Amino acid sequence: MAVTRFAPSPNGPLHLGHAYSAIVAHDLAKERGGQFLLRIEDIDGARSRPELADEFRRDLEWLGLEWDEVPTQSSRLESYDEAARELLEKGLLYPCTCTRAEIEALKPRLGPEGLVYPGTCKGRLLDPAKPAALRLDVDCAMARAGDLEWEDELAVCMTADPREAGDVVIVRKDAPASYHLAATLDDAADGVTLVTRGQDLFPATHVHRLLQALLGLPVPSWHHHGLLMDESGKKLAKRRGSPSLAERRNSGEDGLLLAEQLRLHRFPAGISLAST
Ligand code: GLU
Repeated sequence: MAVTRFAPSPNGPLHLGHAYSAIVAHDLAKERGGQFLLRIEDIDGARSRPELADEFRRDLEWLGLEWDEVPTQSSRLESYDEAARELLEKGLLYPCTCTRAEIEALKPRLGPEGLVYPGTCKGRLLDPAKPAALRLDVDCAMARAGDLEWEDELAVCMTADPREAGDVVIVRKDAPASYHLAATLDDAADGVTLVTRGQDLFPATHVHRLLQALLGLPVPSWHHHGLLMDESGKKLAKRRGSPSLAERRNSGEDGLLLAEQLRLHRFPAGISLAST
C-alpha cells in the first residue's frame, strides 16, 4: 500500500516534466494497491494563479490518470499558523527582514537551493515597520532533533543534513507559509506514505525530515525520480520553449499515447531523462 501525491503549484502551466512526475506517482500508487492524490499548492504569493488548477485537472484527465483530490493549500492556512507558532514557542524560529538584494550583497555561500542565509537577523533588534519572514534556526533545531535518517527508494538511507541549506524560511513575508512548512504538514495530514517528486527537490527533503521531527509528524519514504532535460541539458521549463500540456492537449495530441510513451521512457526529440 502506498499513498502518493502530485502537488503542482498553479504559477505556470504544466509541461512534459510534470506529466512524467504525475505518471510516476500515479503508477507507483496503483501498482501497490494504494491511492494517488492531487494537491494544488496555491499559496505562492503573487505568482499564484488559482484559475490554472482547472487546467491541471484537465491535463491529468487527458493523460488518463485517476486521482483523489485533497484540499488546496489556501484552505489549510490555520494548520500552517499553528505549526509556525509551535516552532516559535520552542525558540526555533527568528524573524528576518532582509531583502533578497541585501542577502546577495553579503555574498553568502551557495547551498543546494541557492544562497545560504548567513543568519544576519538572528538575535538582532529589527525595525518593526519592515515586513519580516520567519526563519528556522537550523543549528538549534538540529541540536533539539538529534541525528535523523530518511529513506529514498532510489538512493540509500540518508542522514538528514539540513545545515547545508542553512536557516531556511518557514513563514514567508508574502505568503502564510514556505513551501517547506506547507508541503511537510500537508503530506502528513494527507496520509502520504511515499513522497514522489523530482530529484531537484532532493535537498529539500533534508529540511522536511527535520520539520517532521520537530513537529512530531509521521515519516514517509521518498522516491525522487530523474528529471526531463532539454537539448541544452537544462531542466524542462515552459520558458525554454517546451510546449505546455494544455497546448499539446488543445492541439489534438493523444494524451493516452503520450502517457504510454513517457512510461516507456520514449521522449520527444531532444528530451532525455537525467538522474544525478
Ligand atoms: N508545489 C511544488 C512544485 O510544484 C511541489 C513540490 C513537491 O512535490 O514537494 O514544485
